[in-house]
Parts: sequence; C-alpha cells; structure tokens
Amino acid sequence: MAILVAGGAGYIGSHMVKDLVEHGQEVVVADNLSTGHRDAINPKAKFYEGDIRDRKFLDKIFDNEDIEAVVHFAAFSIVPESMSKPLKYFDNNTGGMITLLEAMRDHNIKYIVFSSTAATYGVPEHMPIKETDPQNPINPYGLSKLMMEKMMHWADKAYGIKFVALRYFNVAGAAPDGTIGEDHGPETHLVPIILQVAQGKRDELSIFGDDYNTPDGTNVRDYVHVMDLADAHILAIKYLEAGNESNAFNLGSSTGFSNKQMLEAAREVTGEPIPAKIAPRRPGDPDSLVAASDKARNVLGWDPKYDDVHDIIATAWKWHSTHPKGYDDRD
Ligand code: UDP
Repeated sequence: MAILVAGGAGYIGSHMVKDLVEHGQEVVVADNLSTGHRDAINPKAKFYEGDIRDRKFLDKIFDNEDIEAVVHFAAFSIVPESMSKPLKYFDNNTGGMITLLEAMRDHNIKYIVFSSTAATYGVPEHMPIKETDPQNPINPYGLSKLMMEKMMHWADKAYGIKFVALRYFNVAGAAPDGTIGEDHGPETHLVPIILQVAQGKRDELSIFGDDYNTPDGTNVRDYVHVMDLADAHILAIKYLEAGNESNAFNLGSSTGFSNKQMLEAAREVTGEPIPAKIAPRRPGDPDSLVAASDKARNVLGWDPKYDDVHDIIATAWKWHSTHPKGYDDRD
C-alpha cells in the first residue's frame, strides 16, 4: 500500500518523500506546484499534479492508488503573508482540509498525519510549550492550522479517521546528501535568508526587532532538522497503524536560539562575515517559541539526530552553496 504525500513538492514534503522512499515505502505525491518544485519530488514517487481543494482530483488518486494513509503538507505557511492575506490561508489551508477529509471519508482512508505548527499556541504562557497548553493563535496562519486540527478531531469522532497532528517549531536544514533543500520564492525564513547573505545574493540580514522580552532582545525559536522531522512522520504513521488513538505532538529540539545566535552560528559555519542590521518588528512574531518535545520522544520513540544548530545550518549551507539558484540549478 502507498502513502499519499499532499504537498510532496514543497520544502518539508519533499524531504518526507525522500525519507519514505529510502525506507522502501511506496509513495504517491499530490501537489499543485504553487510553491513547490517538480524537481524536488523523488523520482521513485508517483506524481499527480493538482489541487487538494479539487474533489475530482482527489477522487482520481484514491480510485487509482491503494492509499493507506495521507501525510498532509499542502498548505501555505508564511506568517507575515497570512497577516495581509488571511482569506488566502483560510481558503487553501482550512478549506483544503474539508475536501481532503471528505474524500478520505468516502474512500475509507483511516489515517492522516498533519503538519501543524507552534503558531497554534500564540503567545505561550510558559516555556517550554507543552501539547496541553492553551492554543490561542495570534496570526491567521496559526488559526488556519488550529481549525484544521479541530476539524480532524471531529472527523475522527464522526467517521473514525485517526490523526496525528505534528506541531512543528522552526524547521531548517536540508538532506545531508545535498540533493534537495529549501527554495522558496520569495524567501522569508531566517536560515535561508542568512545563507543568501553569506552567498552574496543579499546585501545584509534585517533582524526584525531587538526589543523583545528575551535575553538579547531578539526572538527566540526552536530549530529542528527537516530530516528529523520527516522521521517523526514515519513514526506517526506507524503509531496510527498500530491502532493508537488520535494525538498531537510538538516537534522541536527543546532548546531556544535567538535570531542573533542563529546569525553568529551561520557566520561560524560559513566563514562569511554576513552583515546584519536591526530592523522594525515583523507583525505576528511572539517573543519566544520553544517546544517541550518529550511526548514525541516517549510516545512515538522519536530520536532526533541533529541537536546542534551548527550542524543543521551546515546541511542547509551544503544545499545553498551548491544550488545558488535553488532548483533552477539542479543537475
Ligand atoms: N527573521 C528575521 N529576519 C528575516 C527573517 C526572519 O529577523 O529576514 C526572524 C523572524 O522575525 C523570527 C525568526 O527570524 O523572529 C524566525 O522567522 P521565520 O520566518 O524563519 O520562521 P517563523 O518563526 O515565522 O515560523
């Protein structure tokens, strides 16, 4: 039986597909290529180009393929964009989940592993954040994902579709063999932007705010390597296949790094000066987001391999330095 990876041409989805294929799993990818790259999809996966909001498209996949579980990455994920275009997020993210769950219900597909986010917690009351903490998102992106979690909860109650929601903290890095990596247009995430400055593609890094309530005044985030994240999804599929109940898990390293610390680490990894300036705050950024991820370790048996941001940045640097134009540079 196959795993359907919705959004398998995107940054995290493509690493998931690679990980599944390397575990000998049959993989089907659904992606509308709105932000993903055809070249990011592992050649051993079968690819359907289309939109998960299109019921006929989903029916075609579920009719043609023997799908056991869905891993769902097909969503928009840029916090500042969601602040200016909230309905775009509710349409694609939240709306897409309605069609996907309806199609799963009608084709009797019982398992879904879902990309949720630390942004569902909003401004946390304490750190590190536990799965049982209140979820009060402060941006439309986080709310769109929280609504998707709630929909899965009720779809489980009504139709028996079991889910695992994986709440990612800050994902970074690339496949260590350098074959795939992060390539967004336009890029908004901290690590690739820092590395673009190191490459000379940008003049300097703008650090968004240094007056937050954190030790050095810049935002603190919890970085997890994209391949460790992919491994957690494989464990989540096994958890559901073993007949366990629906659940939610944080995926982070349990260690916070400030934006200034990330810049310093990137300077060490790349050996480049990476000029930076302090810029105004970006809307929608909480002071700090650090995960308690012991639940994923204890219940799923997750054992992340990368516990040093230097190593995470080094894998991203391998991709960026060998593919300065992203997928346009791929052999
Ligand atoms: N950030 C920054 N300059 C940039 C891009 C990001 O200072 O050019 C900061 C951003 O304000 C946040 C952190 O880096 O504090 C991580 O942002 P990112 O967009 O990578 O991930 P998010 O936390 O929004 O998921």
